[in-house]
Order: sequence, then structure tokens, then C-alpha cells
Amino acid sequence: MIVDSSLDEVKKRENALSIIKDIVETKGRDELFDLTGLSGGFIASSSEVSLLETYVGPAIFEDALQEVGIDHMGGEKVLPLNRTSSGILAAILTLVSEDSNVVHYLAELPAHPSIPRSCKLVGANYFETDDFDEFSIPENTSLVVVTGSTMDHQVIDEEEFKEVIEMAHEKNIPVMVDDASGARLRTVVFNQAKACDLGADIAITSTDKLMPGPRGGLMAGREELIDKIKVKVNQFGLEAQPPVVLAMLNGIKNFNEDNLINSFSRKDELFDLLSEKFNNFKKTPTGVMISPEDLNDEVKVSHHLSDNDVAFVFSFILLKDYGIITIPSVSMPGASATIRFDLSTSDAFNLNLNDLDKKIESSFDKLQEVITNEEKCREIVFNF
Ligand SMILES: *Cc1c(COP(=O)(O)O)cnc(C)c1O
Repeated sequence: MIVDSSLDEVKKRENALSIIKDIVETKGRDELFDLTGLSGGFIASSSEVSLLETYVGPAIFEDALQEVGIDHMGGEKVLPLNRTSSGILAAILTLVSEDSNVVHYLAELPAHPSIPRSCKLVGANYFETDDFDEFSIPENTSLVVVTGSTMDHQVIDEEEFKEVIEMAHEKNIPVMVDDASGARLRTVVFNQAKACDLGADIAITSTDKLMPGPRGGLMAGREELIDKIKVKVNQFGLEAQPPVVLAMLNGIKNFNEDNLINSFSRKDELFDLLSEKFNNFKKTPTGVMISPEDLNDEVKVSHHLSDNDVAFVFSFILLKDYGIITIPSVSMPGASATIRFDLSTSDAFNLNLNDLDKKIESSFDKLQEVITNEEKCREIVFNF
């Protein structure tokens, strides 16, 4: 195994960031193509930046975020967080007691790791399923979790979504929705309702997914619950700091639904081009993807790397040779190693899809050349 632990994942991420820095410094930002769908951003005017003081910043921007955030997410009150993971942790610290049950329904496994990890931290029993017929709520359940759209952009069926909420509320159990990308993907591309409007008690979105905002989390929901969670958030320092709150506010204001809808049609073109050479790419709502297993299946030479390692090496070749950023190289520990080419954020708008297809093909050819040499692969991932 090349990437075998959370520490390895931190190290490969450090290497990816140093490759990115090198490209920006030697060739310029224009030679980087962030196709992660999480390209973030920091939209702020200089007059706004001058208000970013410890107490003045929140006074101005958190207040403005209430209106804009509720408009985006629904609910009675919003709470800006350092990350979506921070919001999930805070909600579980607040609502889940030791030895109680947490049940999670999502369109396709796996769940985001922050959910099981937070449950483990409080000593709760955690169950997850992507089989709706198998989903049930046992006695002594303290929280029901629903993922609106998974890390691989698999979107929940809205009828099932409503049913899970109903089942939970019959037993007076609160529902938390992990709507990291779903708050936009579900609503804009799939015309579903906002999670809070469907009856969710709290919902959390990631402000750099499919929108031009910073990495951060925005929680919305019932005021009484948000207030309780806010106490934990402040006690443990999980809140978003003023600069992030400002950028969240402007990111939401600048969120453009048409961009998402355009990528929805352009992905078909990219899929057709790639399918001339590959068999295993799949469409996502806003791009294409290939899982580590499916990528390995495309490899026609025999080798000893794990599926995930094949995906990591491929991601690093794309980055180093063509400046194409995909999630496996830059992700945090535990994230999915699926390679996704997302067309919904600004670097993708002007990209010639024929060129992109050629770069992906030639990166794959290189992957096949190096894959038998584990030392070489290790060097590509860690730079040592
Ligand atoms: C990205 C994502 C998260 C976590 O977001 P962070 O900003 O990394 O904390 C949680 N759940 C899902 C479904 C995600 O896609």
C-alpha cells in the first residue's frame, strides 16, 4: 500500500499543495484547472475586508448571513461553521448521548467519515444503510441522519427523504441532513425542496461545494436546536471566523444556478469523448467520475497496487503533468478516492472538452507505464 494511514493522506496532500504552489509560481494560476467542484473562492470588496475585526466582523456579516443563509437553506436560523464536519460534530455532541443509537440513510454508501467518527467520539451506536427497505429506527435512537447528496454526488430520492423524516418525527427524533453539496445539487438540478422545507430539523451545507464560497459549513434549522448547537460550537471553537463568514455571505450571493445547469448538459459531451477509450466512467449530475475499483479495472497491465493507490497515482499524474486538480490528491484523510471531473465551477467553463479528454487519456497512459514500479508511484504521490 502506498497511502495506508491518515498520516499518509496528510503527507500526500502536502505534496499536492506544493505542486499547486509550484505551478502557480512558475506558470501562473491560468495553468491550473480545478475540477474538484470544490474550487471555493473568496469574494470580498476592500471596504468589507476593512471591517474584518474580531467583533465588528461578526456584528456586520453574521447578521447579513442570517437573511441570505435562510433564503438559501430554509429554516429559522443559520449558524456559520469552520467546516461541514465541524457542524456534524457539534450537532452530534449536542443531540446524541452515550449508548444511544444514530441511524443514517443515504443514496449510496459510504457516508462522510465525520458522521461515524463523531458518533464514536460520544460513544453512540451508529448504523447506516443505502437500502431503503432495510432502513428502520430502533428504540433508544437519539438522531436520524439523512445525506442529501453523497460525496460522489448520488442524490437521495425525494419521496424516500420525506418518508425518513416522517418516520423519525413519529418517534419525536430530530433529523439532521448532511446536505454538503445537496443543498444546491438537489434543489437546482433535481428540483427538490430545501431540506428544512421538507421538515428536517437541521441541515448543513458546505459553502465551497458547487458555489463560489470558502471552505466552511453553514447549518440551518429550528432556532431552538441551532441555539443549543451554537453553545457547543462556541465552547469547542468550531465556528466560522469573520473572514470566512464574509466570504460565505458573498459566495451565496454569487451562486449562479445557470452554471450548475450548464455543467449538467456539458458532462454528456465529456462522457461521450471518454467512453471512446474507457468503459467505466460514469456520469455525475455535473461531470463524470470513475471509482478506484473501476479505474483499476481499466488498467491492462498486472501490478500490486490497491484500487485506492491507483486512484491516488492517477490524480497526481493529472496534477503534475497537466495542472488538473482532482480530489484524491488534495483531499483530507478519509475522503473518497473517486476521480471526479466536475464541470460546475469557474475553471471548467472555458475548458475545451476535447483537450481535457486528451489530457485524461495521456495521463492514463502514463499511469499504465509507471504502475508496475511501486517505488516510482510512491515518489509521484509523496515526492520522496
Ligand atoms: C464534503 C462533504 C462533507 C464534509 O465537508 P468538509 O468541508 O470537508 O467538512 C460532509 N458530507 C458530505 C456528503 C460531503 O460531500
